[in-house]
Amino acid sequence: MEFFTAIQDIGVYVKNAKRNCKTIGLVPTMGSLHEGHLSLVRAAADECDVVIVSVFVNKKQFSAGEDFDKYPRDIKRDREILESANVDVLFAPTNAEMYPDSLATYVEVDAKLANCLCGATRPGHFRGVTTVVAKLFNICQPDMSYFGQKDAQQAVIIKRMACDLNFSTGISVMPIIRDNDGLAMSSRNSYLSENERIQALSLYKALCAVKKMVEQGEVCSSRIFRKIKQILISEKDIKIDYIAIVDNESLQPVETIKEKTLIAVAIFVGNTRLIDNVVVDGES
Ligand code: AMP
Repeated sequence: MEFFTAIQDIGVYVKNAKRNCKTIGLVPTMGSLHEGHLSLVRAAADECDVVIVSVFVNKKQFSAGEDFDKYPRDIKRDREILESANVDVLFAPTNAEMYPDSLATYVEVDAKLANCLCGATRPGHFRGVTTVVAKLFNICQPDMSYFGQKDAQQAVIIKRMACDLNFSTGISVMPIIRDNDGLAMSSRNSYLSENERIQALSLYKALCAVKKMVEQGEVCSSRIFRKIKQILISEKDIKIDYIAIVDNESLQPVETIKEKTLIAVAIFVGNTRLIDNVVVDGES
């Protein structure tokens, strides 16, 4: 596996791959890799000749007071995992490499998409995400790029950016990978104490319960909202950040569940912020 930290070096590699008519699959990550990330790697390997994984903890998508400093970083372990997964290139630039001077140019996301759900309590988060992803698209020139449904709002925004700004990469959004107990895999799960982890399971429990309600014919968003809230508040260390029942493209609230409705939830368990979601189809 090639390991690059310099944009210029990966640029030479990408140019060569293109010259040899290889298709490139890109998996952008912040590292501390788990099976969720590896599911994206496998999808990329299935569809592309060359797989590039980026590991970059992007300061620009963290707000002041968030966990940028303590975000888990272990590039040695990530490198070993990616070697074993037969990844072709690990690109792990430094902050100075990606942002040598403070940027004068950002990718601005429309407030309707960026200021709801996670964006409501994380101002500037999606601007940071789109800006770094746009840079990675330009650096890696992927034919396909892979993102997880776990970050549902991010997936919607990235798809929209690729379309609006005519990036030539296709965007593939892969299902949420969970631990055996149902908790969605996340690098931030390592922050949870044993007791917090048990309480965190109520997030999955709540989503399963409302998915079942919808399957049994429930279409009223407010009843679904109340069910999720009722399950979550039964845990003493859980604080609800948001419960959103929205259209899975526009991210605007829906009163009645319809085709492709996103039910997304963010909670704090102690100090750890966790997100999870399910997409449901109401009866038409
Ligand atoms: P992160 O390193 O957390 O920024 O995630 C990098 C990519 O992996 C994003 O596209 C995430 O949505 C995706 N991802 C993270 N966790 C999971 C998971 N449990 N299942 C599927 N994809 C995931």
